[in-house]
Amino acid sequence: MASELEPEVQAIDRSLLECSAEETAAKWLQATDLTSEVYQHLAYYVPKIYCRGPNPVPQKEDALVQRILLGPMEWYLCGEDPAFGFAKLEQANKPSHLCGRVFKVGEPTYSCRDCAVDPTCVLCMECFLASVHRDHRYRMTTSGGGGFCDCGDTEAWKVGPHCQKHGPNPSEMEEEEDPLVHLSEDMIARTYNIFAIMFRYAVEILTWEKESELPADLEMAEKRDTYYCMLFNDEVHTYEQVIFTLQKAVNCTQKEAISFATTVDRDGRRSVRYGDFQYCEQAKSVIVRNTSRQTKPLKVQVMHSSIVAHQNFGLKLLSWLGSIIGYSDGLRRILCQVGLQEGPDGENCSLVDRLMLNDSQLWKGARSVYHQLFMSSLLMDLKYKKLFAIRFAKKYQQLQRGFMEDDHERAVSVTALSVQLFTAPTLARMLITEENLMTVIMTTFMGHLRPRDAQGRLQFERYTALQAFKFRRVQSLILDLKYVLISKPTEWSEELRQKFLEGFDAFLELLRCMQGMDPITRQVGQHIEMEPEWEAAFTLQMKLTHVISMMQDWCALDEKVLIEAYKRCLAVLAQCHSGFTDSEQPVTLSICGHSVETIRYCVSQEKVSIHLPVSRLLAGLHVLLSKSEAAHKCPELLPLSELSPPMLIEHPLRCFVLCAQVHAGMWRRNGFSLVNQIYYYHNVKCRREMFDKDVVMLQTGVSMMDPNHFLMIMLSRFELYQIFSTPEYGKRFSSETAHKDVVHQNNTLIEEMLYLIIMLVGERFNRGVGQVSATDEIRREIIHQLSIRPMAHSELVKSLPEDENKETGMESVIETVAHFRKPGLTGRGMYELKPECAKEFNLYFYHFSRAEQSKAEEAQRKLKRQNREDTALFAALPPPVLPPFCPLFASLVNILQCDVMLCIMGTILQWAVEHNGYAWSESMLQRVLHLIGMALQEEKQHLENVAEEHVVTFTFSQKISRPGDAPNNSPSILAMLETLQNAPYLELHKDMIRWILKTFNTIKKIRERSSTSPVAETEGSILEEYLRDKDKAERKRKAEIARLRREKIMAQMSEMQRHFIDENRELFQQTLELDASTSTASESSPMVSDLVLTALGPAQTRVPEQRQFVTCILCQEEQEVKVESRAMVLAAFVQRSTVLSKDRRKCVQDPEKYDPLFMHPDLSCGTHTGSCGHVMHAHCWQRYFDSVQAKEQRRQQRLRLHTSYDVENGEFLCPLCERLSNTVIPLLLPPRKIFNSRLNFSDQPDLTEWVRTISQQTTALQGLRKEESSPHPASSENPENKEKVRLPEGFRPDFHPKNPYSKSIKEMLRTFGTATYKVGLKVHPNEEDPRVPIVCWGSCAYTIQSLERVLSDEDKPLFGPLPCRLDDCLRSLTRFAAAHWTVSSLSVVQGHFCKLFTSLVPGDSPGELPCILDVDMFHLLVGLVLSFPALQCQDFSGISLGTGDLHIFHLVTMAHIIQILLTSCTEENGMDQEEPPGEEESAALSLYNTLREHTGSALKETPSGWHLCRSIRAGIMPFLKCSALFFHYLNGVPSPPEVQVTGTSHFEHLCNYLCLPSNLIRLFEENSEIMNSLIKSWCHHKEVKRFLAGERDAISYPREPNRLLDLPQDYSNLINQASNFSCPKSGGDKSRAPTLCLVCGALLCSQSYCCQTELDGEDVGACTAHTDSCGCGVGVFLRVRECQVLFLAGKTKGCFYAPPYLDDYGETDQGLRRGNPLHLCAERFQKIQKLWQQHSVTEEIGHAQEANQTLVGIDWQHL
Ligand SMILES: [Zn+2]
Ligand SMILES: [Zn+2]
Ligand SMILES: [Zn+2]
Ligand SMILES: [Zn+2]
Ligand SMILES: [Zn+2]
Ligand SMILES: [Zn+2]
Ligand SMILES: [Zn+2]
Repeated sequence: MASELEPEVQAIDRSLLECSAEETAAKWLQATDLTSEVYQHLAYYVPKIYCRGPNPVPQKEDALVQRILLGPMEWYLCGEDPAFGFAKLEQANKPSHLCGRVFKVGEPTYSCRDCAVDPTCVLCMECFLASVHRDHRYRMTTSGGGGFCDCGDTEAWKVGPHCQKHGPNPSEMEEEEDPLVHLSEDMIARTYNIFAIMFRYAVEILTWEKESELPADLEMAEKRDTYYCMLFNDEVHTYEQVIFTLQKAVNCTQKEAISFATTVDRDGRRSVRYGDFQYCEQAKSVIVRNTSRQTKPLKVQVMHSSIVAHQNFGLKLLSWLGSIIGYSDGLRRILCQVGLQEGPDGENCSLVDRLMLNDSQLWKGARSVYHQLFMSSLLMDLKYKKLFAIRFAKKYQQLQRGFMEDDHERAVSVTALSVQLFTAPTLARMLITEENLMTVIMTTFMGHLRPRDAQGRLQFERYTALQAFKFRRVQSLILDLKYVLISKPTEWSEELRQKFLEGFDAFLELLRCMQGMDPITRQVGQHIEMEPEWEAAFTLQMKLTHVISMMQDWCALDEKVLIEAYKRCLAVLAQCHSGFTDSEQPVTLSICGHSVETIRYCVSQEKVSIHLPVSRLLAGLHVLLSKSEAAHKCPELLPLSELSPPMLIEHPLRCFVLCAQVHAGMWRRNGFSLVNQIYYYHNVKCRREMFDKDVVMLQTGVSMMDPNHFLMIMLSRFELYQIFSTPEYGKRFSSETAHKDVVHQNNTLIEEMLYLIIMLVGERFNRGVGQVSATDEIRREIIHQLSIRPMAHSELVKSLPEDENKETGMESVIETVAHFRKPGLTGRGMYELKPECAKEFNLYFYHFSRAEQSKAEEAQRKLKRQNREDTALFAALPPPVLPPFCPLFASLVNILQCDVMLCIMGTILQWAVEHNGYAWSESMLQRVLHLIGMALQEEKQHLENVAEEHVVTFTFSQKISRPGDAPNNSPSILAMLETLQNAPYLELHKDMIRWILKTFNTIKKIRERSSTSPVAETEGSILEEYLRDKDKAERKRKAEIARLRREKIMAQMSEMQRHFIDENRELFQQTLELDASTSTASESSPMVSDLVLTALGPAQTRVPEQRQFVTCILCQEEQEVKVESRAMVLAAFVQRSTVLSKDRRKCVQDPEKYDPLFMHPDLSCGTHTGSCGHVMHAHCWQRYFDSVQAKEQRRQQRLRLHTSYDVENGEFLCPLCERLSNTVIPLLLPPRKIFNSRLNFSDQPDLTEWVRTISQQTTALQGLRKEESSPHPASSENPENKEKVRLPEGFRPDFHPKNPYSKSIKEMLRTFGTATYKVGLKVHPNEEDPRVPIVCWGSCAYTIQSLERVLSDEDKPLFGPLPCRLDDCLRSLTRFAAAHWTVSSLSVVQGHFCKLFTSLVPGDSPGELPCILDVDMFHLLVGLVLSFPALQCQDFSGISLGTGDLHIFHLVTMAHIIQILLTSCTEENGMDQEEPPGEEESAALSLYNTLREHTGSALKETPSGWHLCRSIRAGIMPFLKCSALFFHYLNGVPSPPEVQVTGTSHFEHLCNYLCLPSNLIRLFEENSEIMNSLIKSWCHHKEVKRFLAGERDAISYPREPNRLLDLPQDYSNLINQASNFSCPKSGGDKSRAPTLCLVCGALLCSQSYCCQTELDGEDVGACTAHTDSCGCGVGVFLRVRECQVLFLAGKTKGCFYAPPYLDDYGETDQGLRRGNPLHLCAERFQKIQKLWQQHSVTEEIGHAQEANQTLVGIDWQHL
């Protein structure tokens, strides 16, 4: 299609090119009717440029548009060449002090917590870094797009409104001047003309609704039949639905459908078909039909191409206008003027109005373009911002209605601009007074809340789906109200007062509709059938919480407003309660001679609601009144006379009773909805305007009542009146038939009631209730939170209520109450309560949940025991000393000493003294004791603070000393306490009782002192003495108990230790083995110690035969590892790895054909084997694995669940430690000893001779092989034919040695070999494949290399103490690899050997073998050594294996030295040595010169000999270390002790151990005869020549270590980097989940359709695809937006890991929710790096998935 259309487009191009911008502009300047002139131009050209085919051609279109359409306008506007015109404009312009940068999605934004007026004030990164706020407390977030930088807005910042760049120029005048003065009259006129025409054109065409007809003045002469089928975005249909439908409707591929869907999602619309009307109409009907089934259909329109063309240009025009006004503030002002000018039709017809009102009709792309234009024009011009704000407010209701009808997110709605307008304090104030904005918002909001019940209350349970949907959308209006209220007025005008109160009224109306909503009735008998709807009401309450608080804050600022608001609130409350006394019968209650009349009402039988916002608001206002000056000066002015205390307390009291009854289990049948409501009622998100205010409301009511009356009403509401009013009721109750449940219920209710009294008297940390400061309140919260346990910063923040600015005020006080403890390598920083704050602890703190209360109690008692062991009252938690009440609340304390209270206390104590049955509980008693304590504290304080002439009216201590009146003659409370003190069943409360008695005596003393009577003194001291004696005895007794307990614990400990050993087998195995190895070393020391340890060669150290016993973890049976016994295996995990890779771009194209024989030195992909070191019998393991497999199959059929391991791929978890494994390695004895125990080196050939012999043997073998594969298959069986190949002496290729291993070991050799092959090459298992042995040797080599790398990286010694699992794994792996040839085809292994050997010693026909630059020498060494036995076993000439090993090693070492000399000695450095060169140096120099000779002097001029030696030593070190490990595990020779410790490079020791001269060059000298020719042949390889000619690269040595990416210190750098990253596939679109590969630094567009690719026939996300290529299936990523590390393994496994970034409080912020500045924690990053380097990422994922099953269900492949 595209190619067909191409010529047409080209042809048009030519005709279009003739149009000149300058000439057109000149014509326009002459025109009398400019509008029609311009319209003609557009009508002609626009359809010729846009919409010429099915797909847009952006570059071509843009070029043409600039030339033909925009060019003339620019010429016209400037009156000259715009290239000069705009430059002049820019120069003349005085730049604005506003930054105004519009944020991209994901861009970091900063808000200063100290200086921002509200949290919506943000800075862009550039401004932030140049501002004063970078040193303040700031928050960092990522923008969701939209919104702009507030730098320069003086209203947004308390301090430092300008950054350095946007600072005001001091020379400029302060006042604002008209920006138009910088423009000429002509210019103004022209600009005005062209802006007016173009803006109108754009608005007209974008809001055009007809589908095939243009506005008359744009209609074309000839109209082609070309249409688009336009698909629009909605929020109803999913991506999948759209993609599926499109494939059907327009017959496109899935890829195209995805691309369509992506564009629709991004831009809001996309044409999915181009052609004639019929053709498009057909597609439309299919789409509509396919999507209309369940929901409303997708929106599709068939539009004429010319309309689409004009609309596209309209959008272009708006962006153009946006960029043109950037040149000059004057142009900007003209555009604003044009936009807001009323049209000819009067009101509502400015262009801006038309756009806004059509907002919900426009598609997403069009909206965002014009919103951006508004932001860069109207919102940047202060004068017009105000005018615009007025337009916006006037249209508010209409705009919101549009938004309600629309289904797009608020972010793409014009209503979202409210945040820019309403948060500016002066604008908000102006809109309130002039446009009555508060009322407008409230009435708009209320207008959308339907239906209501008869009393006008909201009824969410009757909402339809659509109403519920609208309710969710309408909640954004609350946000608008919050914006309006967020900055509080500093002064009030009469106008503002009036309008605020009007808004307050509207707000009260909303609260009235909420008062009493969602009422509930207790369910008896049956459980409720359906959980009632409760969430909507709570959502509303939660959203309103801050608004309610802010309303109060506003009221608090002006006394007149406060009093007026109070009156209105009270009136509404009275209205809510009207009739509440009429309908219900009055009853009279009386106790202790007091009586009161109240209504009959039972929470457990009648309706009750938890929603009481009106009375709570009144409570808030009451507290403000109490705080106000009026309350002190002229309380008569306060509108308190109208209050009816019983009315005030009624509903809050019912709420408390409801909670108590729920707690007592009386509402069980009402289901979870009620439990949830109660939970949120107390929750930190709601409690400030719910629970807390109910407490205040009760306090308010009670402070105006007779406390006796209140207590009786309370008893009645708690349904406990009977119990306390009837003497002996309790006793009778418990002794009679009483039902156990009912007793328990009543006990709980009594406890709850006592708790409520404690709260009413004790909760004074509220300014206005008690005499406290604002910080006292938060301080107390923190103390109580930290009394539970030490907490991290974020936990603490979560437990404290946030204000509308997201502040808790915690930072101001935290240092006075807590110490900060820094975090370690894991975990978080913690705050710990300072010990001196413990005395402020109140056990009955009202924000404790029950669980928190008991935890806190335990923690505080423990603390007391630790700290004050010597005081007598160590375990008492007495009530703290409280601040005094404010005058309005002062009478509350009298509850404690009123008659009914004393009666309640007395009754409960009596129950405790009598101690019979269920009738009382310890918590009940504890609360009574607490109340008594509170009363005593109160009295003591009164006494201490009393002024001379006053009489203390609080006489609790006297009242409790009086015995009861007749006829009961009950003992006094004091007497009962003294009795209880010795009650054996009250051990726990003894200390508290003692504390009470002590305090009582102190008070008595104070009272007596004031009445100057010294008698009591002695009495008190006697008592104290008595107490002291008792304490002594007590302490003795306790010491004895403690001793017994200690003994018991010791016994327990040793039991536990045994248990622990069992559980931590690995750990102990390790230590035991360490012990074992040291002991064997000392035993054999006389033999070994004087010797120098040598791993190979003639001096190889003899190691005594060691028998090895292991225990199977499955059957616990012990067995010796022997050649002929059953196989023992280690659980192992084989994986492909790129950790050592030097070239991640490489990938194997066809694994079936790939030849792994030679490992390239870039180590681009290796096979790593790891193990947990746990040993099993092979048959035990097999049985275990079979059962896992069977279980898994059953499970999958049943549940279709994933597991953390993939059984089908052979994966399982180690039965002991649950480490992920996918195969097993057999345990073997050192295999060399089995085949060749003789270590006799006499009569062995030297290197030259050996090479010659082996060459002959390999040549012979190759000859034989050739014959076998010759076209006469029969001939190979003919012995005569063999004669043709001349066999070297003693070589018998027909000899086949017997395999010494048992059947089961052989089987395991094959199992592990095949597994390694399968994983390493990513192919199907094939036991017979000739590559199996190669992969096994490769895995051995690679695993050793990666261990060496890790050890060097951490600066650890080569043979230092290794974790035993690593040691076991390497030993088994090496021995396995050495034994594997016995189960392979001999000829295959021989073939491999021949090839490997020939790469170093080229024979007659060198073939296509790699040059020595392209071979990793360690892999070559391992391959040669391990395949050599296959050759040697047929050699009867007397050459031993040991000789072969030694010569192979020397040969490879020399090849490596040549490699190093060729690649790594070129770099010059000035540090030449001054001393004359030593022997080694001159030898190196001469070797280098030989090389130069062979390479035809292509090698660089000789560096110094010293430099050469240094390079060789440095370059060969990793190879030597790897070789040492390899021969150590192969031959079992212990490592030299020198290499077991950190320190110097150990070069000499390694050489000794490896039987090398420490002057390595001597190897060449000793074998000069053969080496000369070998070096020559190596150097003559064409690849070496190409390298030396600079035509190719080669790896140099030592290889640089691979590390993870260097991460920046400041996390916002990463965010910024990611925000600049756009999806590589969808053309400049911002990526939603930018993800950084920590291995190679690539940024990926993760978790998105656009970047899915196919991998093995499955669609996978960018991360999974990258994981496959970059990490061979293992990926380590950082999800930048989430601040989260992501580990991936293969397609199905993954987990999230804590990021290495911490905030100042030592916490990570996954998801970037808190926004504290984050900095790199090097230690944690190191830990991640280590996981990666040690190949433990997959293991980590396994553990994470085992610990958290939800991780298993995630579709990791889509990330
Ligand atoms: Zn900025
Ligand atoms: Zn700035
Ligand atoms: Zn600041
Ligand atoms: Zn076993
Ligand atoms: Zn294990
Ligand atoms: Zn990567
Ligand atoms: Zn993408």
